[in-house]
This record gives sequence, structure tokens and C-alpha cells, in this order.
Amino acid sequence: MNALLPPPYPTIGPDRPPWWIYLLLPLLHFASVKLTFLCAVTPENEVVVWLPNAVLLAALLRYRGQRGWAMAALTYSSDVLAALSAFSAAGAVLLSLVNLAEVLLTYWLMRRLQVSRGLQRFRDFGKFIVAGPIVGALLAALLASAVLLQLDATTTPYFTLVRLWWFGDALGLLIYTPLLLSFSGPMASGLSHPTRYTLLDGTVVLLGLALAGLVFSAHRGEISGVSVTPDLLLPPVLYLAVRFGVRWTVLAVALIALATAWVLTMGHQPFGAVDVHLEIVRAQEFILTLCTIGIGFAILLSELKAHERGLEDKVRERTQALEASNTQLAALSATDGLTGIANRRRFDEVLASEWSRAARSGQPLALVMLDLDFFKPYNDHYGHLAGDDCLRHVARMLAAHLHRTGDLVARYGGEEFVLLASVRDAADALHIAETARLALAALALPHAASPFGVVTASLGVALHVPAVGEATDLLVQQADRALYRAKAQGRNQTRMG
Ligand code: GH3
Ligand code: MG
Ligand code: MG
Repeated sequence: MNALLPPPYPTIGPDRPPWWIYLLLPLLHFASVKLTFLCAVTPENEVVVWLPNAVLLAALLRYRGQRGWAMAALTYSSDVLAALSAFSAAGAVLLSLVNLAEVLLTYWLMRRLQVSRGLQRFRDFGKFIVAGPIVGALLAALLASAVLLQLDATTTPYFTLVRLWWFGDALGLLIYTPLLLSFSGPMASGLSHPTRYTLLDGTVVLLGLALAGLVFSAHRGEISGVSVTPDLLLPPVLYLAVRFGVRWTVLAVALIALATAWVLTMGHQPFGAVDVHLEIVRAQEFILTLCTIGIGFAILLSELKAHERGLEDKVRERTQALEASNTQLAALSATDGLTGIANRRRFDEVLASEWSRAARSGQPLALVMLDLDFFKPYNDHYGHLAGDDCLRHVARMLAAHLHRTGDLVARYGGEEFVLLASVRDAADALHIAETARLALAALALPHAASPFGVVTASLGVALHVPAVGEATDLLVQQADRALYRAKAQGRNQTRMG
């Protein structure tokens, strides 16, 4: 069948019909024919809703036409077999051909119109209505009515027959196709409503069932003079559509359609005392209203919900991206571009928070200020780029050193660095500074323009137990003064403030 059709949909999941489909399909089809005939209203087997055509259509849609000819052959045989009880052999063969043509035409049109096989979207449902209930069923009705008149199988006028056949087939496709799809594969997940059910839902369902009981037990649409017409079932169906989604709405509509056909056969005349053809037409119009409003509403709602979920996902995605870039931005704004260690801004933040923490805990806070010696001559001698490299080396060394001893190392500006650490006492603070100085000397970065021959630094250490409300400037000024003394007293040394 694929060879005849427009390009197939992309294949997802297992699409080959499993072996048991070839058993289930004719059985389901045969049962649908029998069920429909059971509810046939006139001796000529005129029916309110013709369900069986939807069986093949749903199977073709479900399996994207794969093994389509085999499935078509099976349902066709079942159709002929079942029709033999109601029509002559020629009638059964021809009418079953008309049914087959209706389904194949509908399927072909749906592929042409690119309808998604699960009918998940409202637009798809609309296209399905055009392809099946409108075009496919109408053409079948025109043909079938001609066949019936040709075979002298009916006394009903041609256009009355067309109308009955058309609406019967249309309603069958309209109700039964989504029903079968919703309980198998693609539509099942797409259109199920993950809702939490409430007591009100239970109450409405029970009241709806009671109402249906009343409506279908009424004679001529009334009980003891009170009007109870089938139209009363529209509100409960709408409730189902809103709360329970497509699957249960379609099921309810299918059951109501069957019940309507059944009470018609029982002679209850739910649409009043009218001629039998008019009665079927009324029933069909009632079911059509129920169908289009109920199912259409349910599909529209589920599409809106899917859309809403899509938007929420998008918002979540964007928020995550924003958070990630915020984190990145925060990291960037806290990092020194040249050396990759914390910058002055980050140092100010950490100093403020460590300062108040130390104020609460009463533990001394130490600040070491480190300034490279003779760095201007270094730049002059080796060039600015080499100066940058040197700064990176020093930063890396300090960061590794701090990893063991302190809380934060930052580039304070130019060739000045700071170390911040919680310490026990002055000796502790001095030790941190001296090991840093010695580690730098040990790096032995050549410095031809320095009397020491290697890159060295002078360090000023400040130690303070902050009081609550005291300004952090105190610690910085103290370290700065100590650094000045280290410089003045010959460089490459540590002084305590
Ligand atoms: P002292 O021993 O007294 O500290 O002498 P010094 O030359 O290190 O001090 P001074 O403050 O006179 O010079 C600091 C120099 O650091 C000036 C500038 O060329 C250099 N410098 C500041 N920032 C950078 C930088 O980002 N890259 C490079 N390559 N050099 C820098
Ligand atoms: Mg300096
Ligand atoms: Mg310097």
C-alpha cells in the first residue's frame, strides 16, 4: 500500500502490525458489524451509526498503511461475511466494496492532507472530518444508495437513503476512529489527560449516568409528562471533555450513540412520534452535535494544554540558561582577567564577610599585602608581555600556597597581591607571609634588573580582631604601612603592621 501513497511519515517505534492484529482486526470488524445491525432501525437495516469502517481506518492510521492490503483484505472478507445475513450475495460484495473504497479514499486523503496519525491537534481533527465523514462517507453514500436501488433492496427514496447512509457512516468514522486510536498507541499517550480526579468528578459522572438512564428509559422524550430529551446529555459530555480528555469523551459519545440506536430499535421514540426515517435523522443530528462539540472541545483543550506545557518547558529552559549565564557572569566579574585569580572586587566582598564573621567569632583576621620588587624595571627590561607572564606565575604560586594556608588570594591591582586568612596569632600570620615570600624566591624567576637577580616581593602583614561595626579599611591601611616599611628597609622581606 505504501507504494501508492505520498511520502510516509517518519517511522518511530515498532510500526509493523504484530501477528495478533490479523486476528483481532477481522474479529473486531465482525463484532462491530453485528453490533451495528443489532441496533438497525428498519427492516432494510438502516442504521443510525455505522461503526465497522472505522476499524480498518484506525488500523491503517495506527500502522501507517504497513501491511495495508492484508488488513484491507481481512476486513473486506469480514464485511462480506457479515453483510450476507442482511443482503444478497451481490449486495454484500458490492456494498462491502463501497465500504472499502470509503476507507481507502479517506486514508489516502488524510495522508495527502498530512494529518498526524494520532489526531493530536485540532487542525488534524478538522482535516480528518473533511477526509472521512464529509468526502469519504458522502461518496460512499452516493454509491451505496445507487447499489441498493439497483438491487431492489430498498423502498426508501434515493436521497433519503443517501442522507441516512452518509450520516451513519460519517458518525461511525467520527466516533469510532478516535476511540480506537485513543486506546491504541499514538493517540493514547498524546491525548490522555494526566489529571487528578476529584469527588466532584465522581459525582458528575454518577449524575450523568443517572441522567442517561432517565433519557434512555423515557418514552417519546418524556417521563410522567416531564421532558427528558437526549440533548440533556450534552453538559455531562462537555464536563467529561474538560476533565477527562479525548479518550473518555469519545467512549462516552460512542456509548450514547449505541444507546440511542438501541432505544430507537426498542421503539422508545426519544425524539418524539415521528416517521422512522426522520427519527434516524434526528438521532444522527443529535449524535453529530454531541460528537463535534464533545470531541472537538476535548481535542482543543488537550492541544491547548500541550501548548501550555511546551511554553512552560521553554520558560524553564530559558531560566536555566539565564541562571547559567548569570553564574558565569558572576564568576567573570569576580575574576581577574590576567591571572585568573580573584580580583579586587571579590577581595572587597570576601574581606567584608570575613570581617563580620571574625567579629562574631572573636578570631583574628590576617591580611598579607604583597608587592613585587622592581617590577617597573622588570617590564622595562623584559617587555610588558613578559611582565604579564611573570604576574601569572606569581598568581599561580600564591594560589597553590593559599590552598594550604589561607582563605583568599586576590590581585589587588598592578603587581600587588593580597592574602586573607583566619589565624590563631601574629606568628601564624607571619608564617603565612614568609612561606609565600620564600616560595616566590624559590621559583627563581630571573630578574636581571633587580639586585636580587630573581623576582622577589615585599610583604606587609596586618592582624586584627575586628569589633562589630569597625571598618575594614583599618586592616588594609595597617598592611599597607607594613608593606611600605618592608620596601623602605631593603625589599624582599616581610614586616608586621
Ligand atoms: P617597587 O619595588 O618599589 O615596588 O618598584 P616597582 O617598580 O615594582 O613599583 P612601581 O609602583 O613603580 O611600578 C609598578 C609597575 O608594575 C608599573 C607597571 O609597569 C607594572 N604593572 C602594573 N600592572 C601591570 C600589568 O598588568 N602588567 C605588567 N606587565 N606590568 C604591570
Ligand atoms: Mg606597586
Ligand atoms: Mg612594586
